[in-house]
Amino acid sequence: MFIPFVNEPLTDFTREENRRRMNAALAAVRERTGRTYPLLIGGEEIHTGEKIVSYNPSQHDEVIGQVSRADRALAEKALQTAAQTFTSWRLVPPEARARYLFKAAAIMRRRKFELSAWMVLEAGKPWAEADADTAEAIDFLEFYGREMIRLGAPQPVTAYPGEENTLEYIPLGVGVVIPPWNFPLAILTGTAVGPVVAGNTVILKPSSNTPVIAAMFMEVMREAGLPDGVINYLPGNSADIGDFLTGHPLVHFINFTGSKDTGLHINRLAAQTAPGQRWIKRVAAEMGGKDAIIIDADCDLDEAVAGAVTSAYGFSGQKCSACSRLIVTGEAYAPVLTKLVERVKQLKVGPAEEWGTSVGPVIDAASYKKITGYIETGRREGEVLTGGTGDDSRGYFVQPTVIAGVSPAARIAQEEIFGPVLAVIQAKDFDEAIAIANNTDYGLTGGVYSRNRNHLEQARREFHVGNLYLNRKCTGALVGVQPFGGFNLSGTNSKAGGRDYLKLFMQAKSIAERF
Ligand code: GLU
Repeated sequence: MFIPFVNEPLTDFTREENRRRMNAALAAVRERTGRTYPLLIGGEEIHTGEKIVSYNPSQHDEVIGQVSRADRALAEKALQTAAQTFTSWRLVPPEARARYLFKAAAIMRRRKFELSAWMVLEAGKPWAEADADTAEAIDFLEFYGREMIRLGAPQPVTAYPGEENTLEYIPLGVGVVIPPWNFPLAILTGTAVGPVVAGNTVILKPSSNTPVIAAMFMEVMREAGLPDGVINYLPGNSADIGDFLTGHPLVHFINFTGSKDTGLHINRLAAQTAPGQRWIKRVAAEMGGKDAIIIDADCDLDEAVAGAVTSAYGFSGQKCSACSRLIVTGEAYAPVLTKLVERVKQLKVGPAEEWGTSVGPVIDAASYKKITGYIETGRREGEVLTGGTGDDSRGYFVQPTVIAGVSPAARIAQEEIFGPVLAVIQAKDFDEAIAIANNTDYGLTGGVYSRNRNHLEQARREFHVGNLYLNRKCTGALVGVQPFGGFNLSGTNSKAGGRDYLKLFMQAKSIAERF
């Protein structure tokens, strides 16, 4: 028997021993930067002439590594390989499939500091955020492995005289996995191994911002002994291979996490049945957020502001769960602004690799430009109380920014910025606060700080988000504890880390035998 699932503990970096280990891991990883990684199709390492170069966002002249870049012919080869491998992988018993994941989790645990160090350097994640990312990847392996054992067991059906009736979950086939750069190990691991443990084979197209940590994931899965061809590593430009993969008749499902526009595009493409395609493609798409925290006048304002700051500026606001709207009711508005500005000014902006950095860089030049552009829009739509500047001379640093007096309909209150920018909105009472919070195309996370039981109950009923947090921050959903996924244009509510997840990549077969 396997022991029940428990979340992987986070590393306590206030302990000197752990800081020493992290610094050692950073130094060791630095020795290995600048290398070149091949594609991996069915166990074959393929080097292409065209490369994707990955840079350190804290210091953008530092190359983290280069990966080979697939074209359509290689994408076709990867799909054929995945289809071929599916014929044997689907027959591997669920428990055996789960053991590959448990072994991979053990390897990741042994390489924990090193994997986190790669993310510090490649994604610009401050230490604690990178450590949480690695812990979440381990959680996905442990959780989905156990889930497959549960779903692989005989499923309950009603007894019928004279017959044996069973229901079993079988995999779909070949899938395309397109994870984001913001959780470059956790979400990549979860979106790949969920379908795989369910018996599918996949093409993994990592983000071009973080392909090296994806190559490390492949190393782990190979060391765990996962058969060749079950996960095929295929970095490439979306323009070259994205639509080709999504539209291909061999593909059964697409598991995507990223922007709303890309997710909707994938959904449209997947809805068309290609010649020779014999099934309806499934799309699991986790997209953006414009997440709000409501601060109710009667709550502990210090605690509320601390929670809002963590939610808004953790990993520079580059989480779809990040708080980007702070809605404050009644007379709390003025004191909240004062406390907020005080706290935000204390945040230490700097290179992610330095211990003590609370806000690192944003991911790349395009992001920097987009975020600073929104700050300019924000100057017209409200008052910049702190931050508002950036410096991209060495790395892509944007000062944590608070913009107050924003109208709920303003662009910075409606559009996802994906950076360290918080719009503060005043509401006259709690009813209005809920209405403002729900006035968005999205519906991913939301938070309420209140001592009023009626208001908390009202939020449970009316705040329309997939992940609602009462009297705590709205980021950092834990695998198994807070299954993660939103409503409306935040996505298909696939609930990563939840008990419904694997079934998204399976179909149920009922078998009746009369004796
Ligand atoms: N699951 C993460 C959280 O709860 C966010 C994932 C994302 O940004 O895609 O903070």
